[in-house]
Amino acid sequence: MTRRPGFPARIDLGSGTPVARPPANSSATAPAAGASPARTRTGFVSENTLPGGIGLDSGAVRHRMVMKLAAQGITDPRLLAALGAVERHRFVDTALVNQAYEDTSLPIGLGQTISKPNVVARMIELLLGGQREPSGRLGRVLEIGTGCGYQAAVLGQVCGEVYSIERLRGLHDKARDNLRPFRLANVHLLFGDGMKGFAKGAPYAGIIAAAGGEAVPQAWIDQLAIGGRLVAPTRMQDGRQALVVLEKTARELKQTVLEAVHFVPLKSGIA
Ligand code: SAH
Repeated sequence: MTRRPGFPARIDLGSGTPVARPPANSSATAPAAGASPARTRTGFVSENTLPGGIGLDSGAVRHRMVMKLAAQGITDPRLLAALGAVERHRFVDTALVNQAYEDTSLPIGLGQTISKPNVVARMIELLLGGQREPSGRLGRVLEIGTGCGYQAAVLGQVCGEVYSIERLRGLHDKARDNLRPFRLANVHLLFGDGMKGFAKGAPYAGIIAAAGGEAVPQAWIDQLAIGGRLVAPTRMQDGRQALVVLEKTARELKQTVLEAVHFVPLKSGIA
């Protein structure tokens, strides 16, 4: 019998049961033909292909991470399910696999870093505060700074469509390799300068930046839908970087400045 992780996936935070584990008899790297969309999006991959260290129980380790995030104040059940389902250890170098579920940022190559799980979770939760589709998902989302592709994979579970753009060819290629086994049909990776946004996919219900700039580029504001939300680390007048949330209505752009953060710089052009 095949157990399907329905969406929103049920989370039992008290039982110690790993979230969204593959069925015991699942060994394929690709979902079976006719698999439900929810199963396809989760992108289960055989545990025996793990690079090492995490072993057979990565679901349990992720479950502990999710419980910690819930204790830290992340409440959206769909987001918690997504964080429990996406195998973070597949996005970091083999030598760092053992730290993949710790609350720490990690190097991903070319001087860039993957954010701590609680920063990823916090930003996506802020993004999800905006208008949702009847399905409960956020609609089309633009991510600036694909990096290793981890956040794009999580977004793919909670948004209808994800466009993720990266300016470094090496990381764009790496993210493509990392995401391939997950077969996320709704996650689109783009190579280019994200400061210009991606006009072809606009308007976006949400825009999320994984790199911090001096100001929010006008292109992002233009490409945000009415009722949409933008979450971006941005430099403040005192020189520190803080999380900024912009909410666009027909009449105004409401800005909220939240906690201090430390993101890699938003740069223009490609390399
Ligand atoms: N979300 C990523 C985090 C990547 S770190 C993850 O889950 O791994 C931020 C990334 O933003 C870096 O890879 C950096 O190259 C990229 N970046 C910086 N400026 C950019 C720009 N203008 N357009 C696209 N990507 C940019």
